[in-house]
Amino acid sequence: MGIRKNQSSLTTSEKAAFVAAVKALKANGDYDVFVAQHRAAFMASPNDPAHRGPAFLPWHREYLRRFELALQQIDPSVSIPYWDWTVDRTAGASLWAANFMGGNGAGASRQVTTGPFAFSTGEWTLTVLDPGDTITFLTRAFGAMGSLPTQSAVDAAKNVVPYDSSPWNSNSSTSTSFRNRLEAVIHNPGHMWVGGSMMAMSSPNDPVFWLHHCNIDRLWAEWQRENPTENYLPPSGTPGVVAGHGLDDPMPPWDNETSPPTPRSVLDHHALDYTYDNEEAVSPEAVPLTIDAPAASASIGQAGEVDAYSFVVSAAGSYVVETQGSTDVVVGLYGPNDMAVLITEDDDSGAATNSRIERNLSAGTYYVRVRHYSGTSVGNYSISVRGSAAQPIIPTIQVNGPAVQGTIAAANERDMYTFTVTSPGTHTIETAGNTDCFLTLLGPGNQTTLIAQDDDSGPGTNSRIAANLAPGVYFAQIRHYSPSGTGPYSISVRT
Ligand code: ZN
Ligand code: ZN
Repeated sequence: MGIRKNQSSLTTSEKAAFVAAVKALKANGDYDVFVAQHRAAFMASPNDPAHRGPAFLPWHREYLRRFELALQQIDPSVSIPYWDWTVDRTAGASLWAANFMGGNGAGASRQVTTGPFAFSTGEWTLTVLDPGDTITFLTRAFGAMGSLPTQSAVDAAKNVVPYDSSPWNSNSSTSTSFRNRLEAVIHNPGHMWVGGSMMAMSSPNDPVFWLHHCNIDRLWAEWQRENPTENYLPPSGTPGVVAGHGLDDPMPPWDNETSPPTPRSVLDHHALDYTYDNEEAVSPEAVPLTIDAPAASASIGQAGEVDAYSFVVSAAGSYVVETQGSTDVVVGLYGPNDMAVLITEDDDSGAATNSRIERNLSAGTYYVRVRHYSGTSVGNYSISVRGSAAQPIIPTIQVNGPAVQGTIAAANERDMYTFTVTSPGTHTIETAGNTDCFLTLLGPGNQTTLIAQDDDSGPGTNSRIAANLAPGVYFAQIRHYSPSGTGPYSISVRT
């Protein structure tokens, strides 16, 4: 599942990857197809399928996801970042640096002259323009047309229920329509503050459009999670509602596809295979599970609900997380000790449509998230965690013996080894090979007391720890430096 991150937390290389993918999409012509779709939606007014109505949020969720998938065709590592304007509110924010979005417009023309989307690069000429518009360079005019939403304005908007209200358009009350509150009071000012190209029907010409709308989508997802009983409104067939805005209406311009997206089909963003980097922070408390206890009964009570669990592994070994029942659930396993690090996800490896994850786990706290396979369905299930029947076999390394061969076979795998120190003194634990191993030394006599950790003190990207050790049993854990990395290595202990 792709993780959409706050743009301010992106590394330099993550920013470069996003920019490169956007420019590649521009170069192959697909970017401008997206711009034209957005312009066409506006030009369909008063039958705009995307704005000033209930489907404002679903339409842009679908639109952003399609754009993101197009970027991922070019670079699978890329996700759309979000711009949290409650924090990054000035022209000095790193968002506007020359290595990312570039800066404000300059001079009377408001032309953007810095960064990768400056006209002078020759790679960012606007070809989809609003009717009557002739300017083919990107323009911005920070702050000239309004100010960015504040945190308190966002908080107030997120308190509005229900989702939408009659007359289901831009006249819906911003105190009884979350959608119109978010659209008119929070979203529109973002376009206006950036100004220039972002004011147009062709506003996706400015790549910051995607980051702005990503934040709007994130706020909708938070509102959904915080208001699990508030459903999308209105149902299809409600009088006076523009086509595309009812719950089960196919959304133009995708309405001629074999199974066209509808507002209903995008209600659960996890089912669209992406998540936001801050979701765990606002999730309900995880329910603790006890290893080898009877299965705990639970239910997905609302469409889009995600249930969270945790369990503590005290001894490394093989563990099975499994669901039972007739509900088609999807289970994600996270950790150790970090709710945001996905180990693996499973849909149907268990009985019937149940999930089953079997994994070698090191000591630590793990987190489990359970959702329905369908973002619109509910149902009962039970969930259990069992430890391996046999005591896990931890390979032994002979001190001053031959190196032991190992492999990080899967993302996030942790391999545990043990060795026994008989005479006190400095012992060097070291990996060899071309895999960027990360070594953790634990003990003595347990797998939880940290002695030392090392990434690259050995040759190349190998790990090396030299430690003065008293007699006792020690444990060495190997993982890949990258959470997604795999590869072979060997490990040895010498005096
Ligand atoms: Zn739009
Ligand atoms: Zn917009």
